Amino acid sequence: LRSQSVAMRMASDQMALTDAYQQLSVTNAQLAHLASHDQLTGLLNRRGTLDALDSLVTTCSPERPLGLLFCDLDRFKAVNDLLGHRGGDQFISVLADRIQRTLETGCIAGRIGGDEFVVMLPDHDVERAATVAARLVAVLAQPVHAEGRSVPSAVSIGVAGAPHHGRGAGDLLRNANAALYRAKHAGRNRVEVFDGAMQHEL
Ligand code: GH3
Ligand code: MG
Repeated sequence: LRSQSVAMRMASDQMALTDAYQQLSVTNAQLAHLASHDQLTGLLNRRGTLDALDSLVTTCSPERPLGLLFCDLDRFKAVNDLLGHRGGDQFISVLADRIQRTLETGCIAGRIGGDEFVVMLPDHDVERAATVAARLVAVLAQPVHAEGRSVPSAVSIGVAGAPHHGRGAGDLLRNANAALYRAKHAGRNRVEVFDGAMQHEL
């Protein structure tokens, strides 16, 4: 009788342990998601984006190129001035949603700063990446309805590609950012593709 009761206790302890282990796995997954995702938009955050980019650049090759878009909203400070910070946040989440819906399966978007987004395009050469960027410029140029108003919207995008414009995540981001800088200076609401001459403009 005693060994039967010990066996029952052991079985019940084991069930409790399994439950605790499952709960721990769920909590770990939630923590990992929180650490790598942006709470406002649900996109990857800066850390998540850099991790994803690191792993994508290591697997890209001339046959399987990677396109990178560095996007920065145009005159976003004016949107904040008009709508307030909360309205500005709402504006950002609408645009993040548009970016996500515009991308094909396998392409990944992240929010790496206040009004800065990075888009990773596996199996896209620079030309194809520029076509996606042009589509995003058009989609994000539609006014946003926020706080009961129709607010003008625009984005500038710099494009770079691996391995063509660099093999490391840092190089690629820097080069896409240089192209973005050129897009801003050329009047905004447009796409610029990296060329070597841009390296010294930042
Ligand atoms: P530009 O066309 O040159 O990009 O002009 P800009 O006004 O968009 O300037 P910039 O990109 O340098 O500034 C982005 C602004 O975004 C700065 C800051 O006030 C605002 N911002 C940063 N993070 C957040 C955020 O989480 N929420 C909101 N609402 N605003 C933010
Ligand atoms: Mg901006």
